[in-house]
Amino acid sequence: LPRLPVFEAIARHDPDSTVVIHSNSGRRFRYGELLGDVCKTRNRLYEAAGRDNIDGERIAFLVENSYDYVVTLLAILAAKSIAVPLSPAFPPPELQYILNHSEALVLLSSAKFTQKAEEVLRTELDVEPAYLQLSKFQGGGHHEKITLEKMGSDSAGMMLYTSGTTNRPKGVLLPQSVMTAQAKSLLQAWEYSPSDHLLHILPLHHIHGTINAIFTPLFSGSTIEFLFPFNADAVWRRLAAPFLTSDQTPTSEPYYHHHSKITFLTAVPTIYSRLLTAHRALPPDMQSATRTAISPSHLRLAISGSAALPTPIKRAWSDLSGGNVLLERFGMTEVGMALSCGLDVADRVDGSVGWPLPGVEARLVDVDTHQVIERGQERDADGRERVGEIQLRGPTIFAQYWRNPEATAREFVDSKDGRGQWFKTGDVSVRRAVEGAGKSNLPSQKDWARGEMYFILGRRSADIIKSGGEKVSALEVEREMLALPQVAEVAVVAVPSGKWGQKVGAVVMVDRDNVPEGKWSPLEMRRALKGRLASYKIPQVLKVVDHIPRNAMGKINKKMLVKDIFQ
Ligand code: ATP
Ligand code: MG
Repeated sequence: LPRLPVFEAIARHDPDSTVVIHSNSGRRFRYGELLGDVCKTRNRLYEAAGRDNIDGERIAFLVENSYDYVVTLLAILAAKSIAVPLSPAFPPPELQYILNHSEALVLLSSAKFTQKAEEVLRTELDVEPAYLQLSKFQGGGHHEKITLEKMGSDSAGMMLYTSGTTNRPKGVLLPQSVMTAQAKSLLQAWEYSPSDHLLHILPLHHIHGTINAIFTPLFSGSTIEFLFPFNADAVWRRLAAPFLTSDQTPTSEPYYHHHSKITFLTAVPTIYSRLLTAHRALPPDMQSATRTAISPSHLRLAISGSAALPTPIKRAWSDLSGGNVLLERFGMTEVGMALSCGLDVADRVDGSVGWPLPGVEARLVDVDTHQVIERGQERDADGRERVGEIQLRGPTIFAQYWRNPEATAREFVDSKDGRGQWFKTGDVSVRRAVEGAGKSNLPSQKDWARGEMYFILGRRSADIIKSGGEKVSALEVEREMLALPQVAEVAVVAVPSGKWGQKVGAVVMVDRDNVPEGKWSPLEMRRALKGRLASYKIPQVLKVVDHIPRNAMGKINKKMLVKDIFQ
């Protein structure tokens, strides 16, 4: 195998330690067998492609959350090719789009998705990928000594598609050197260790599920346990298992055999919210075992990201767990994780995504004046907070959008210091000094000591509402609305207005326990928000709905929502 940092790390770990567990079956795979399986699968890939130089070729794959997924991802890197993970949840047109757009050379699937793969291959595609079906759960149990050879090129990597929240998903090319830099940054910040046991409950075609929850733990020799498909009740049962006494352990469910506790959890806000809801319906002994399981002394770290974490969810999780405060971070497909709160609980400030991660350089560029907001200039001459776009650079940033040089050129800006271009995230933020923050042990400590934390206001394109000359952050309004007992879920949007340019609009799912008959009027809403928000920030239009549509990562396409509801 080529000498990639991830393979070197895997080869160093204790071969008998567990790399992957499947929650449902309890089946375990060891670090010692991983590289042997990677090697075999890489060779099968060469056979399917009909040649053994497939450097830089795109290999699409459809494999469920399992040991096989990990093997496949690494086998594609081992072939110096580009891994393109597909979601089993994608409908055929979406799969077609990605196969065509990435110009896939091979489509690989697990036995579970043979039918789905064959179905897509039968449709009219612009490309003709070779098909490779993986045998089910490899893992021969042998400890094979694999030689690692020097690798000259950086053709290996991963291509992930953005969530498509604002537009058609873009293909983001992440060379393995970038993936490695992202992993190293997270290792430092979140201190993954061989004793970490991570419960994996995320989709595997986004950066969150792949880099944070697979690639990085492989570097540290941690255990990755896949609970698939996601089900809130099953997650609680699995978390509780090591804390139930034998007379409490129901032998009829699949998790009783798990003795090791979960120490690491990473998820999106909607998952935490579903877990909290499901928790209320658990029987009393399960409730107490799960509370123990997620207490700070057992669950070392619970992380939230991919969308803004509503403060009520954060509070409820902390109350339930006896003070396990969710750690929020900000990331995107193009940059991996960029900003994060710290391990010290004092550094998990409500509404903040913390500071730049190790190796990441961040700056804020004023959305009005286009000037960099330097330290100490966070307020303008009138004392108003300056809002800036987050721009980033460093070894963790992606190389390019696939086959889209225009988009790549548009999203990067030259720097004056000649130290590389800045990537424009499209997300806007303010920077605020927070008293008492900056305690975590990170290289950027010297900046942190000043306590200047980032608070995301949302997407420049969809979350900054320009109403009568004022700028309103949809995220800020959402945060305040979620604090009201009447509101279960909310999306704050810009509604076109002849008079104001844009009006602040709110689409709300009400909490039926606190709103009689689910009827909530704009007048009542405004009354409830009075004193919480400046009057120009209080939504002028309100629409109560039964359901707010979200994608797999819990994100809302606001453009579509406005079109569906207000136009
Ligand atoms: P597309 O680029 O196709 O429109 P997308 O931007 O949703 O989709 P991703 O790369 O998966 O695709 O998501 C990145 C975005 O998620 C960020 O730009 C940001 O808007 C949002 N995000 C991630 N973490 C957070 C967070 N902690 N708070 C607020 N927003 C977040
Ligand atoms: Mg995006």
